[in-house]
Amino acid sequence: MRIELENLEGGKGDFAHVYGAEELNPIDERVSLTASAAVNGKVRLSGNEVFVNGHLDTRAQVECDRCLKPVELPVIADFTLKYISDSEYESSATAALTEAEMSVSVFDGKALDVDEIVKEQILLAIPTRMLCREDCKGICPECGTDRNLGECNCVTNEIDPRWAALKNLT
Ligand SMILES: [Zn+2]
Ligand SMILES: [Zn+2]
Repeated sequence: MRIELENLEGGKGDFAHVYGAEELNPIDERVSLTASAAVNGKVRLSGNEVFVNGHLDTRAQVECDRCLKPVELPVIADFTLKYISDSEYESSATAALTEAEMSVSVFDGKALDVDEIVKEQILLAIPTRMLCREDCKGICPECGTDRNLGECNCVTNEIDPRWAALKNLT
C-alpha cells in the first residue's frame, strides 16, 4: 500500500490495512510472519516534512539461534517516523542537519510505501538474538543432533575447563 501525499486532504489523513502474511513474507532471510499484520496510523504533512504515527500488530516466526527450531512471537509496535523528500535531504545535508536526534527517512516526495514501513517495524521489534528457551542446548556441531532431545556420542574438541586447569599445572 502506498500513501500518495497529493491525495491527503488538508495535509493529513488516516490509514489502516490488514496484510495477509503471504503478502509480506519473507520479511528477511531470518523472519517470516505467521499471522496477518494489522497496521493503522496517521500521516501529517508539515512544510517539507511528513510525520507518520502508527500501530502494528502481528505474529512472527524466527529461528532459535542455537537449535534452529522455529520460535513464534507476537510483534506489537507503536512507531513515529519522520520523512523528508530526497531533494530536501540533499539541500539540508549541505546545511547542518540540526534534528539529527530524531531518525529521519528519505522518500521520493510523492508517496510513502506502507509495505516497507511495516517490514521495517517488524524487524526493529524482533530481538537480534532469539532462543526457543533460555537454556536451549543447541545442536551438536558434529552430527546435528538436537541436544535438547538427547545426548549424542560425539567427542567434541572443547576441553572441559576443569581439565584445562589441571593441564596448566604440568
Ligand atoms: Zn533452541
Ligand atoms: Zn553429535
